[in-house]
Amino acid sequence: MSVLLFAENSQGKFKKAVFEAATYGFELAQLLGTNLEAVSIGQIENAELEKLGTYGVSKVYRIQSEEMDAFANTAYAAGIASVAKSVDANIVVMAQTYNGRAIAPRVAVKLKAAPLSGVISMVDPGNGFQTAKYSYSGKGVESFKSEKDSLVITVKANGFHVAENPQSIAIENFEYTPAASELDAVAKEIVKASSGISLTEAEIVVSAGRGMKGPENWGMIEELAGLLGAATACSKPTADMGWRPHHEHVGQTGIQVAPNLYIAIGISGAIQHLAGVSSSKNIVVINKDPEAPFFKIADFGIIGDLFDVVPQLIEAIKKAKVSG
Ligand SMILES: Cc1cc2nc3c(=O)[nH]c(=O)nc-3n(C[C@H](O)[C@H](O)[C@H](O)COP(=O)(O)OP(=O)(O)OC[C@H]3O[C@@H](n4cnc5c(N)ncnc54)[C@H](O)[C@@H]3O)c2cc1C
Repeated sequence: MSVLLFAENSQGKFKKAVFEAATYGFELAQLLGTNLEAVSIGQIENAELEKLGTYGVSKVYRIQSEEMDAFANTAYAAGIASVAKSVDANIVVMAQTYNGRAIAPRVAVKLKAAPLSGVISMVDPGNGFQTAKYSYSGKGVESFKSEKDSLVITVKANGFHVAENPQSIAIENFEYTPAASELDAVAKEIVKASSGISLTEAEIVVSAGRGMKGPENWGMIEELAGLLGAATACSKPTADMGWRPHHEHVGQTGIQVAPNLYIAIGISGAIQHLAGVSSSKNIVVINKDPEAPFFKIADFGIIGDLFDVVPQLIEAIKKAKVSG
C-alpha cells in the first residue's frame, strides 16, 4: 500500500500547487505508515523530477511517450490509474488545478475510489477520512467523511502548506501506451495568457474594480504592481466589460488566490469576489465608501479616493526604494 501523487507539470516545470499536494501526500503517507510515490506524465527533465524528493517523494514513475506529450485527460487518467494499480496505491493525491479537476473523477472511477475534491485539511484516517473543504462561496467550511479507504484527493491550490521533507528519490520509467479511444480530447496548443507574474503563484496581488472608472486608468495599477513585484487582478465586471483580460478575474467564478498581500482598489467586496480572495494572509482595501463590505475582512483599510491614494502610495514606495 502506498500513497501516489500525480505530479502535474506545466511545460516541463512544477508549480507551487504540486509541492503543496506533495506535502499533503507525504504527511498522509506518514500517518498511514507508508511512502509517498509519484507519477509524472509528459516531457520533463530529471533535475525537475528530483525536486519532488525535497517534498517527500521517494520514487517517481515517469510516463513519457509521444502520445502523452500533450494533455489528454482520458489518457492521463488511465495512465495514473495504471500506475496506482501497479504499485498498489489506494490513495491518489493531486493538486486541484484545471487539469486535476478534469482527471480526478476519471481516476476515481477507474480505481473504484471515493473522490474528495478541493480539500483544505488533512484527512483523518482514524475517523472515516474526515476532512474539510470550502462551501457557500468560501463563507462556510464543509466537513465530510468517506465510506471507502480508497480515495482520490485533490488539494485546493493555496489551501495547504508547503513543507520540505527531503527524501532520496528514484526515477523509473513506466510504460503506458494509451488506447486510441483514450486520446479523444487532446490539447493542441497552449498560449500563455501573459508574460507577467502568475496570479496563482504571486506573493503580492494588486487588484482593481469598477471604481477605476475605465480601462484607461489602469496604468497606475500596473505601475504599483511593478514596484511591488506583484501580479495584477480584477473584479468580474471589469473583465466582462473588456477593461481587463478574463484571466485576471478573481472570485467565485474566476481564479482563487491566497497571496501574502492582496491589495483591493475600488472593489466593493461582494461575496462572490471574496470567495476567491478571502484566504489571502493580509488584505488592504482602498475604497471611498466607508460602508464598502470589503472593509469587514480587511487587515488595513484606506478610506479615500483611489485617484488620490494610489499615486501617493506609488510615490511613497518609490521614495522608500531610493532611500533603501
Ligand atoms: C453568480 C455570480 C458570480 C459572480 N462571480 C464573481 C467573481 O468571481 N468575481 C467578482 O469580482 N465578482 C463576481 N460576481 C459579481 C459580484 O457580485 C459583484 O457585482 C462584483 O464583484 C462587483 O465588482 P466591483 O467591486 O468591481 O464593482 P462595484 O460593486 O461597482 O464596486 C465598485 C467599488 O469601487 C468604489 N469606488 C468607486 N469610485 C471610487 C474611487 N474614486 N475611489 C475609491 N473607491 C471607489 C465604490 O465605493 C465601490 O465599493 C458574481 C456575481 C454573480 C451573481
